[in-house]
Amino acid sequence: MTRKIAIFDTTLRDGEQSPGASMNTEEKLIIARQLIRMNVDVIEAGFPISSPGDFKSVAEIGRIAGDRCTVCGLTRAVDKDIEVAAEALKTAKRPRIHTGLGVSPSHLHDKLHLTEDEAIERAIRAVKLARNFVDDVEFYAEDAGRADQDFLVRIIEAAVKAGATVVNIPDTTGYNLPWHFGQRIRDLRERVDGIEDVTISVHTHNDLGMATALALESVRNGATQIECTINGLGERAGNTSLEEVVMAIRMHGRELDAHTDIVTQELCHASKLVSSITGINVQPNKAIVGANAFAHSSGIHQDGVLKARDTYEIIDPADVGAAGSQIILSARSGHAALRHRMSELGYTFADDEFESIYQAFLEVADKKKEVYDEDLESIVHERERVSKAIWTLDAVQVSCGFPLTPTATLTLVDESGEKHTVAAYGTGPVDAAYKAVDEIVKVENDLSEFAIKAITRGIDAMGEVTVRVTAASGEVYTGRGSDNDIIVSSTKAYVNALNRLISDQREHAA
Ligand SMILES: [Zn+2]
Repeated sequence: MTRKIAIFDTTLRDGEQSPGASMNTEEKLIIARQLIRMNVDVIEAGFPISSPGDFKSVAEIGRIAGDRCTVCGLTRAVDKDIEVAAEALKTAKRPRIHTGLGVSPSHLHDKLHLTEDEAIERAIRAVKLARNFVDDVEFYAEDAGRADQDFLVRIIEAAVKAGATVVNIPDTTGYNLPWHFGQRIRDLRERVDGIEDVTISVHTHNDLGMATALALESVRNGATQIECTINGLGERAGNTSLEEVVMAIRMHGRELDAHTDIVTQELCHASKLVSSITGINVQPNKAIVGANAFAHSSGIHQDGVLKARDTYEIIDPADVGAAGSQIILSARSGHAALRHRMSELGYTFADDEFESIYQAFLEVADKKKEVYDEDLESIVHERERVSKAIWTLDAVQVSCGFPLTPTATLTLVDESGEKHTVAAYGTGPVDAAYKAVDEIVKVENDLSEFAIKAITRGIDAMGEVTVRVTAASGEVYTGRGSDNDIIVSSTKAYVNALNRLISDQREHAA
């Protein structure tokens, strides 16, 4: 039997730190359910002291995870952080506190203003305090990739002695070459007293495009936990991508003496879900989950694949769930068929909730002949956006063409149910609609990105619009909207972004 490699998913913590990827609790719960279904070993659910929203997400995810996976909360090596994380993790059956501090010269001297001995003392104190609350404590040595190796050995040994059960060696800045980083891991295994009793974890970033290589080289040298995210989301160039390391281990398990317990058939679904919730699209040529990962366009390649798949394809698309669903619903599909497909996609609803989903489904099915999984997901997400809205779109009508001046008449409903109607003109129909929204909502912002894509196939496909707006504070908010009419989806997306901006400002003001 090969070594089991634990998959520690940090999509909801490090992944959420991608600009514009912030998610609310409901959205995090949808992703967490998918992670549980995929069998990840650990979910890093948030950084509880950072905001009430993060605290709540960690607590809620702890509640749904049960004993199916460990739920982890991040802290600095600060007493208050650890106490708050312990409080948030009370709902979890398998709680883990993830604590630590920077260990590279630049982190110690420029950021923390600590001597090496003071840093070791602080590490010991944090691990011991965390152990008072939970049995499972992971210690991270931030920026270990650029640390003095002798000091790294000392601080890791101190953390292990203080009671850490997992030690996380991050290449926080994605600076290393794979074999150098692997050498660090091997050296720790050889020199740290007691390391054989704890799990060695690695957390690598993709600044040089080598996050996956760094993680695999670490596994070769003794790491048995990989920290990663769906689609490689994360700070800057992102984290190690979950789908890449899982499939590489699956393909080369014997060579690596490693296996994971991930249900690989769920990988493509997870990728689409995260992309749809965060509004961050996956590049088409992305390994494993990109839209073109299994597309063969040259005639020679097509011919080869048709004769024998493995001439040009090393992975069977079905193994990662890329074969696509054959199940298509239509206006004739009844409640039972819809409920069944929704539950296969991971969505369950109370009866009264389900009725409104069914009505929304019928509306889409009326306009389109065939309703795909992607359409169903967008129905669920659209409904969630509306249910928490501060402003909701009631009506929008545009007139445009050549040589007209594009004009929009628009009605929004506020939280008290009052309707506000204005008309505005602009350089195009979307611009006119957005000017009308601005006139009603009156929130200062800059529209920094506007992207539109078809969710499914055909001319009648639902169009999903993603916008990013930058608030006066500099914070970036993503908004999404979907509809068969692109003017409607564009307006919904903009209103959604402004709703997020306003509710975030309220949360911070509170
Ligand atoms: Zn990171």
